[in-house]
Parts: sequence; C-alpha cells; structure tokens
Amino acid sequence: MRISRKKGTSQLPENYKGLLTDYVKFYRQLDEEGKEKFEKRVDHFLSAVKITGVNAVAEDLDRLLIAAGAIIPVYSIPDWQYINLHEVLLYPGAFNEDFDQGGSDRDIAGMVGTGALQNVMVITKWQLRQGFINSNDAHNTAIHEFVHLIDKMDGTMDGVPEIILERKYVQQWKQLMDATIMQMKSYGSDIDMYGATNHVEFFAVISEYFFEQPDLLKANHPELYEILEKIYKIAG
Ligand SMILES: [Zn+2]
Repeated sequence: MRISRKKGTSQLPENYKGLLTDYVKFYRQLDEEGKEKFEKRVDHFLSAVKITGVNAVAEDLDRLLIAAGAIIPVYSIPDWQYINLHEVLLYPGAFNEDFDQGGSDRDIAGMVGTGALQNVMVITKWQLRQGFINSNDAHNTAIHEFVHLIDKMDGTMDGVPEIILERKYVQQWKQLMDATIMQMKSYGSDIDMYGATNHVEFFAVISEYFFEQPDLLKANHPELYEILEKIYKIAG
C-alpha cells in the first residue's frame, strides 16, 4: 500500500537515504546525527519551496539535489530559512532566449530571479546533476545559486552577506575579495575566472570551492578559507 503525501507529512521520497548517500558527498561525510539533521533540513526545505519542472520532469533525485544545494551552505546556521525563495523552476538544458533577463550565470546554468521572477530560482537539470556527480571540481551550480540568495537576503546582492557576516569582518572581506580578484586578473588562478567578474560572482564561486574542496582551498588560500569559515559559521 502506498500512502499519498499529505500536508504536514514528510516530503522526502522513499529512497532518500540511498540517493543522498550516492550523490551528495557533503551528506556522506556527516556522522549519523549530522545526517539526521541534514535530512530534517532537506525535508523542511521541500515543504517550504515549490519545485516545478518546465519541459523537464522534476524527479525525486532532482528535488533532493536542489534541497541539498540549499542546505549545504547554511547547514551550520541554525533556523535558517530562505524567506526570499518560493519556487525553483527546473529546466532541461540551456534556457530559452526569452529568459535571459537579469542575473544569469555561465551560459545560463542557473539564475536567481529578478523583477517578475522575484523569489524564483531557475536551474537546469543537467547542471544541477553534474554539480553533484563531479564532487571534486569546485563547481556546483545549485550551491552557487543558493549563495546568491543568501547574499541577496539583506536587500542587496553585492558579495557581502551582511545577514550572516559579522560587521567587524566586512571590510576585511571586501579587501580580500578585491585583492584576490586583482591577483586572478593579473596572474590567473586555480579559482574559476568567472569569480573575477565582480564581488557577487566571486562570493558564489569561492563558496562552491569552499564546500566542494575545503582542504584544497585551505592549502591554496588560507586567508579566504578562514573568513569563509566565519561567514558560514563552521567551527575551525
Ligand atoms: Zn552567479
């Protein structure tokens, strides 16, 4: 017998543990207690945010990966809610040309909506899955887009997440972003050059690196690593 989904009951698909274990490295590396906390946060996200396939089917795996991308950056921040997000639209591949309004990323792998699409995120199914399948390349489109939302929560998308970054670190963070972007432009970098576009993209790109390859970031860019630990409340 299959029990249909009701309001207030779990939004997690039957095989969520298996899917999270297979696809989400961050989850795999948590202890049992941590995994349970992660699952609850994922469940809560899925009950709060609508996920709609547009010319694509939003499968259980896609729903879980979107939620995982949402929870990974805020995992250590208690009671976090994406109050600026109501719906995620899942597209199959590159978006339709009519869709290129505002804040699109990297040949439109994902974007945070503006204007009529306020409170909407768009992500492509292909990029979503690649981000988790390749878990050691410092690229994860879902994490990237959710970091934009975190940045946007204080009212301005400027690479400075005032809602979680303590005031006393704001100047240091801005200076470090400027110095690193200048360095990237002059000498190239192991950081994705898309991050040198501006502060907004820098914050999203370096956050992908931080959550995908923390040890490498710590070795290559200790100062950035340290301040990202402060931003995301990771006990160092
Ligand atoms: Zn971006």
